[in-house]
Amino acid sequence: MNLADDILIVGLGTTGIATAQFLHKLGKRITLLDEKPEKDLAPALKALDGISFTSRFGPHKREDFLGHPMIVLSPGVDSEHPYLKEARAAGIKVIGEMELACTFLESPVIAITGTNGKTTVTTLVGEIFKKAYGDVFVGGNIGDPLVNYLLGGTKAKYIIIEVSSFQLETIETFRPDTAVLLNVTEDHLDRYRSFAEYRDAKYRIFENQREEDYAVLNASLSLLEGIKAKKLCFSTERELEEGAFLKDGTMHVRFEGKEYRHERAISPLVGIHNTENLLVALLTAYIHGINGGVVEEVIKTFTGLSHRIEVVRRINGVTFYNDSKATNVDSTKRALESMDGSVVLIAGGKDKGGSYSVIVDQMPKVRALILIGEGAERIREELGSYTKTYRERNLSGAVSRAAEVAQKGDVVLFSPMCSSFDMFKDYKDRGNQFRALVEAL
Ligand code: ADP
Repeated sequence: MNLADDILIVGLGTTGIATAQFLHKLGKRITLLDEKPEKDLAPALKALDGISFTSRFGPHKREDFLGHPMIVLSPGVDSEHPYLKEARAAGIKVIGEMELACTFLESPVIAITGTNGKTTVTTLVGEIFKKAYGDVFVGGNIGDPLVNYLLGGTKAKYIIIEVSSFQLETIETFRPDTAVLLNVTEDHLDRYRSFAEYRDAKYRIFENQREEDYAVLNASLSLLEGIKAKKLCFSTERELEEGAFLKDGTMHVRFEGKEYRHERAISPLVGIHNTENLLVALLTAYIHGINGGVVEEVIKTFTGLSHRIEVVRRINGVTFYNDSKATNVDSTKRALESMDGSVVLIAGGKDKGGSYSVIVDQMPKVRALILIGEGAERIREELGSYTKTYRERNLSGAVSRAAEVAQKGDVVLFSPMCSSFDMFKDYKDRGNQFRALVEAL
């Protein structure tokens, strides 16, 4: 892709800063735009010491978007903003940071998307590839933006990135050697006009792939049309001629006429959703020639990430789990499916407009539902009739209530089904506060 000499960067978070540093290195003239006032951007601007740029901070103005031939967006910026639509209509090229960076990559790229499980799978695949090949970059939506890899100036053997639907909205040529689609369920309906629009953004991960590439996807999506790459599916429900599947407690991978097997029980991760995550990791590893011993060593020791169905404490026979990263209803459904015995479920937060009734078939095991946050009323309307339901003013009240109603042998599960921004800085802050409250019981 031809880069213009004069580029506008929208969003001055970690990605925007790295993008500015990278474009400066390429000798481009840069302008930075952020809705925040300059005083809130001081730490970001410090990182740009020594770099010359023009800046436009504070509320967006239409003309700021129209004065440059090219715009690079940070992943958090809504590419459907009216001023960006207008810019596109005026012939201005609008791309995301990932699209910008991918045009400079020389190493094979493994890209992972899906509504849930992205970070878990990206981390696990990253661990396996690091063990096998040493020099591997793991990043993208997970934290370390792809442009940071380019800034580092070294060449990794593999580039393994987590990719969000927002990033996929602004691609043009992005073509992963292996593209993984874990699942697509309702999420972000506050940002997309419809589920179809969100789903279609996810499907774009396969858009530029060619026959020599691989598309790894959930068997439930196996009929997806228009994929040119070689399709390999994974399933926990049925045996597959090629791909990865679970059968009688054993995970099988069938690839290029060979079959590899690992017992599911060697992994400490709980739940069917994690079986799917493991199948994907195995399949990706075998596609790229990694040996079974290395794969087994890593999956035996990978205990999962914080804030994802994480045991906090056992008190008087009650186990408390922190699943603060469950920011949509399917992740909570999966957490409930993973639990034995009765569950006291703490949920609620910033509502994203989807339906909560997806977990109705899990409600028989929910002894009590304790709700907090902006989404509480909508959740109560959809689920309140299935179990005893409480509304609490804050997380502290919810934890005390849960401790009071839980019985010996129960699980207290904090799995909000909503994002955290109504009451917390982010999901980590929310999970840490939950943990502290449980520790203090
Ligand atoms: P993401 O990066 O896509 O948000 P995470 O790995 O951070 O995914 O997990 C987010 C939430 O989804 C957690 O509550 C986790 O338990 C749940 N989860 C993980 N893997 C899956 C999966 N394959 N399907 C459904 N839910 C999952």
